[in-house]
Amino acid sequence: MEKALLIVESPAKAKTIEKFLSSDFMVKACVGHIKDLPEDRLGVDIENGFKPQYVIIRGKRKIVEELKRASRDVNQVYLAPDPDREGEAIAWHIADELKGKDIYRVLFHEITEKAVRRAVKSPGRLDAHKFESQQARRILDRLVGYQISPILWEKVKRGLSAGRVQSVAVRIICDRERAIQRFSPQEYWTITARLEGKNPPSFQAKLIKSGKENIQIENEKICQDILCELRAEKFKVINIKRKEVRRNPKPPFTTSRLQQEANHKLRFTAQKTMTIAQRLYEGVELGDEGPIGLITYMRTDSIRISRSALLDARAFIKKTFGDNYLPANPHIYKNKKGIQDAHEAIRPTSTKYTPEKVRDYLTRDQLALYTLIWKQFIASQMSSQVLEQTSIDIEAGKYLFRATGSQTKFPGFATLYVGEDTSQEEDNGEKLPYLTINEILKLHELIPQQHFTQPPPRFTEATLVRELEENGIGRPSTYAPILSTIQDRNYVKKLKGKFYPTELGFLVTELLIHSFPDLMDVKFTAQMEDKLDKIEEGTLNWIDTLQDFYGTFSEDLKRARLKMRRIKGKGIHTDIVCKKCGQPMVIKWGRTGEFLACSTYPRCSHTESFMRDEKGAIQILKASSQLTGVKCPQAGCGGDLVERRSRRGKIFFGCSRYPNCTFVSWYRPVAHSCPHCKSPFLVEKYSKKKGKFLVCPDKGCGYQSVGEDE
Ligand SMILES: [Zn+2]
Ligand SMILES: [Zn+2]
Ligand SMILES: [Zn+2]
Repeated sequence: MEKALLIVESPAKAKTIEKFLSSDFMVKACVGHIKDLPEDRLGVDIENGFKPQYVIIRGKRKIVEELKRASRDVNQVYLAPDPDREGEAIAWHIADELKGKDIYRVLFHEITEKAVRRAVKSPGRLDAHKFESQQARRILDRLVGYQISPILWEKVKRGLSAGRVQSVAVRIICDRERAIQRFSPQEYWTITARLEGKNPPSFQAKLIKSGKENIQIENEKICQDILCELRAEKFKVINIKRKEVRRNPKPPFTTSRLQQEANHKLRFTAQKTMTIAQRLYEGVELGDEGPIGLITYMRTDSIRISRSALLDARAFIKKTFGDNYLPANPHIYKNKKGIQDAHEAIRPTSTKYTPEKVRDYLTRDQLALYTLIWKQFIASQMSSQVLEQTSIDIEAGKYLFRATGSQTKFPGFATLYVGEDTSQEEDNGEKLPYLTINEILKLHELIPQQHFTQPPPRFTEATLVRELEENGIGRPSTYAPILSTIQDRNYVKKLKGKFYPTELGFLVTELLIHSFPDLMDVKFTAQMEDKLDKIEEGTLNWIDTLQDFYGTFSEDLKRARLKMRRIKGKGIHTDIVCKKCGQPMVIKWGRTGEFLACSTYPRCSHTESFMRDEKGAIQILKASSQLTGVKCPQAGCGGDLVERRSRRGKIFFGCSRYPNCTFVSWYRPVAHSCPHCKSPFLVEKYSKKKGKFLVCPDKGCGYQSVGEDE
């Protein structure tokens, strides 16, 4: 029998698949896209129905020749790139190069023997609508990127770029930073009573009401007055409520939830999570078994699972945890409308490969991510958790206190896995004593506490992915690239896991919002994503969609070229006055980052380093900072750690190459190398008990010196 050619995108995937197919198949890898729009020009014929001018990607010529050669002696070619839009486009471009062959499309949602054999047995055809959807997105991104960027080069600085979705993501981060700067914290107080009844132990209750009103204590004076009143009151139990609460497990992972959870629990970036998941999907060498795809396709917004996977999970739960942990009716997870049901959630391909069984064959990171996927999948089919929640109301004069407790009656799925960020009430572990109505309680103490309302939090990788998903921006294949791009372009930076806009990010965002209000609008971007989905479904024409977009966009472009504020060479105005000549200073960008420069340059060439505080105000960093004698630990930096003082007077330690390097430590670095690990320095901490002591800055090491006083 003649051989058939099967093409996938990655060599790892090729290796796994080859094993499952008979020798009638020759398996080759195309290593990603082979064609794309040209780099050196727009490559879109706008007047001619947005016809794209694809070229073979630099360095891919050899692979294309190899695929052609391999296809020479076969009639049938099976194209098996990943089962999504990008994969469809790769398949389409290959088909274009192998004209005259009998072309089939096969989709592998998982790479196991059964799935591969079945897919090859009943192959489909290329999906024109899916390809057009990818092509429309590619062209949109190209039109935006290649036509706005030159305007930014002329108006702001060479080398800048704009992007259809990433500029909106930067805007979301800028909007949040402005909200933080505008926020003014409000003081409030809470009062907690520690009480004891006839039966031990003592317990805590919170003051919640005064008369019929919810309690609000604005300042210390009011708090003291209430405390005075309370000390004279009797504390009496007036109501006891118990209820059983059932908590259901979460569904198995979609791409966005996997990225969020891996960021919370494993501190992985979205990019890292996807790279590892890709490998688990494509196949990992399992000793004598050879390579096996351990998880289903990792780019998905579906929470559905196949019937065979469901039965597999139920059998595993029954065998491992017993009947109590297996719900009589399986949890069925249904997708919201508009989500592709052809895909499944991310799940292990078989419960046979428990994390324990495969641990020797995986890297540490692969095992950690696989364990997360595995546990969430099994947990999603386990019994609900049953909690008993108790709430006790206690009267003290006109005031009402409430004590709440929660006890697990049956752990259910929580025995295996509890997801991060559950909005449901947690088991707070406090066990309330047995109390009776009208019982008078003994007051041990009243605990007043001062609080301040908190500004909205800055985004982390996890919360930004959730924000993008909730706003309908981006799709499973784009969250990770968006997060990487905005950091690469220096519009935002990540400090201690949180996103901050840079000066440049603020400036470019403001200019773009002004000139391209639609493009920078979150809703508009979400609608565009919907249109791309409709093109894929075949209910919208891709050329009409582009035409529709380009009408307004080309007008905006014309106006922006004429009207966009020109900052180039001038910098952003500030209220800071130059120390040398008394003229105002402006923010400029050099190769090393942002700095303050005298506006009269070149007459006066004075510059300063600066930082912004929480209110967005500029703080000049003292040039005469004190050296600590410790080199900056950031790889390849070479700067010195110096003592600095924030405007509020707090001392901290930063890199002398700021703003080029943003390393900071609140603790004084000391030039002693760690006796336990390779850390070249330790940091000084202080506690009342131990006095001064030294700690290794590497949290994973945990080295601590004994204190001075000991
Ligand atoms: Zn000056
Ligand atoms: Zn540094
Ligand atoms: Zn150490």
